[in-house]
Amino acid sequence: MRKFPIKHVATCSMLVIALFVCFILFTEKPVALSVADGSTDFEESVRSNLGPLEQSTIDAGRSALPDELVDELSEYSSNGSHASWRESAELVQVEIRNGDSLSTIFNRANIPHADLILVQHASPDQWQTQRLLAGRHLRYQLSDDGDLEYMEYSPEDLTVFSFTRIDDELTCEVRTRKIVSKETYHYVSIESGDSVISAGLAAGVKQEKTVWKIPKLLQWDLDFYHDIHPGDSYQILYYEQFVDGEYYGDGEIIALQFVSGDQTYELVRYEENGILNGYFTPKGYAARKRFLRSPVEYTRISSGFNPRRLHPIYKVHKPHRGIDYAAPIGTPVYATADGTVSEFGKNRLNGNYVFLKHDRVYATKYLHLHRIDPSVKKGAEVKQGQRIGSVGSTGVSTGPHLHYEFIVNGVHQNPATVHLPEGEPLSESEIARFQAHANELVARMEALKTKYQANSPSLVKN
Ligand SMILES: [Zn+2]
Repeated sequence: MRKFPIKHVATCSMLVIALFVCFILFTEKPVALSVADGSTDFEESVRSNLGPLEQSTIDAGRSALPDELVDELSEYSSNGSHASWRESAELVQVEIRNGDSLSTIFNRANIPHADLILVQHASPDQWQTQRLLAGRHLRYQLSDDGDLEYMEYSPEDLTVFSFTRIDDELTCEVRTRKIVSKETYHYVSIESGDSVISAGLAAGVKQEKTVWKIPKLLQWDLDFYHDIHPGDSYQILYYEQFVDGEYYGDGEIIALQFVSGDQTYELVRYEENGILNGYFTPKGYAARKRFLRSPVEYTRISSGFNPRRLHPIYKVHKPHRGIDYAAPIGTPVYATADGTVSEFGKNRLNGNYVFLKHDRVYATKYLHLHRIDPSVKKGAEVKQGQRIGSVGSTGVSTGPHLHYEFIVNGVHQNPATVHLPEGEPLSESEIARFQAHANELVARMEALKTKYQANSPSLVKN
């Protein structure tokens, strides 16, 4: 059958394609035009007909967030609360000066007076009672015609007022920015000349307050004044917080391991039903113990005070039955455990002194004090961490320091190394759940350490 020549076939297919194209053109475009109400700009019409929530999805596609954060952010803001958030790169920023009002700022920025009225009368009560704070910023964007398209103001880091132009109105929305927490790990090696703090910062911990938590958490275990040596190391797993993809600050420490000489101390944070129970060893004993390892806070003595000045003192106390903490005069001295004052006063050798009795077994002594606190009376009860006096140089002493003695059953022990009673164990009912949590954290730290070692073999000694 050759009745249908090949060129007819070609013509027919062309016709079919042309019809199909026409169908697409005439069905799609008129719909768009009708929604756009006469507008010829298709995208503009979509934008102006969507509420702020839908606009955010348009903006989200252009977000400058690191990929790994986008998922978390969308998870945290699934209620659509970061609706009108805009990329700050496309916004103009003006600083609010002392004495500024919206009117003076709008004048300075050449924003039309009509928009000022709209913003001033925006409805939320929270906006109406809001003050402009000097030093904070307004961020805005003008249209090609010079009208205010978008404006935002944060009176503090986590609250944002945003104004979005929708038709002839500026719609105000109050948004609470969500903090997104991310786990962060650091391995910190303490080299000669480092302090626990400086080494942590050098290893990449962003906030000093995070590193300062370490001597606080281990104050029952480690004497940070005497026990830290080059070659010691620690690992911390903690939260870094992000707001809109930007680093906001550090959160809590989740787990921590400190290696001092041949001793390893480990603590994990434990919550139950969202309530913090505290920090515990992986075996389930509380970090908090009956005795503080040191009667002087590490924070007070690490700041540039040179302990070497004290060496002659070792010749004075013979045999040296305690440990010396060189610290500026007036530095607080704390009772290391609950107890009662067994003796206090002043003599030629000890200067001002306080002796505490903790029970039949344990006693502690504090010598060369500058002052004894008025709460210290014979037989008075003291609590762990209670201030009993201040560092001085009274009695036989060649420089300001605290001489501290630790007595077990009448025998002097080295306070820095004496074995101290463990903290309270978790209850039987909690221990199983805790153990699973602790094991998981310890394993995770171990894996992170291995990964770290693989990346920087020269920095890790064991
Ligand atoms: Zn001494």
